[in-house]
Amino acid sequence: MHDSLATSSQHCALTYVGHATVLIELDGVRILTDPLLRNRVTFLRRRRPLGEHAAPRAVDAVLISHCHLDHLDLRSLRRLDRGVRLIVPRGAGRYLARGGMRNIEELQAGDTTTVGGVTIRATYAQHDGALPFGPRADCLGFVVGGRRQVYFAGDTDLFPAMAQLAGHLDVALLPVWGWGPTLGADHLDPRRAAQALALLRPRLAIPIHWGTLHPVFMGWCNPRFLTEPARAFIRYAAELAPQVLTRILQPSTRLALDALLDSLPAGFSEERLPDGSQQAVGRRLRKYVEFGIRPVRRRKHHRFY
Ligand SMILES: [Zn+2]
Ligand SMILES: [Zn+2]
Repeated sequence: MHDSLATSSQHCALTYVGHATVLIELDGVRILTDPLLRNRVTFLRRRRPLGEHAAPRAVDAVLISHCHLDHLDLRSLRRLDRGVRLIVPRGAGRYLARGGMRNIEELQAGDTTTVGGVTIRATYAQHDGALPFGPRADCLGFVVGGRRQVYFAGDTDLFPAMAQLAGHLDVALLPVWGWGPTLGADHLDPRRAAQALALLRPRLAIPIHWGTLHPVFMGWCNPRFLTEPARAFIRYAAELAPQVLTRILQPSTRLALDALLDSLPAGFSEERLPDGSQQAVGRRLRKYVEFGIRPVRRRKHHRFY
């Protein structure tokens, strides 16, 4: 157990380390999601190198959402500590144990565990986590709950049961892009991430899974996919879910949440729903929530060349 569990600090803060790596500080506990703490992973390179002191070290637990290489990186985990507590999807444990990690807890969607006074609830994610030669494991999101409720979506597409998470989320960390000019299936693009807000109804939304990684050969041209997805998400959110506050965090930046959240209404306000397009989206989403059907296959994803 690290010292931080013993602190009485009650502040809540988020550090967007980059891509899907977020340090959640809540009720004196430090939880790190999907640590990618290297500047190069196979063919992907980090846009701005992670400085020696910028990488989080002492954490109380690590959450792994799924086994894709941009979310589960053994060498990054070993940099933390082989004994660091890992909370991982069902099926990933054996792979991690073989990789030398010693403190592994597998969860499936619906399971809960605790870290200090904080509850970790594993949630469903609509994502294909299969790898040709990797472990067969579930894909999860997590709700990290204490004095605040923070939803980390992992990699996912829209799914109707997002609506079941609504009602008490303070913050949603939503993926809005990836690491290249186009996006594969089973991901949220900026528009669909904004649509997800209408289901999740958090008070604050922060886009993640953007702005950090690019293929090795693309670094020289500063491609738009490294900067535009978060801005596009903010624009769509203003149109489709204006009652949700949004903030862009650049990689390696920290946001203290208490003053910000305390300045917001206590919950998502139905009364502030505007006329027009937002309601139309709400109706469409409600329809597939009610009937349990998958939304019509999306049109082509955005491209950011
Ligand atoms: Zn993935
Ligand atoms: Zn990913």
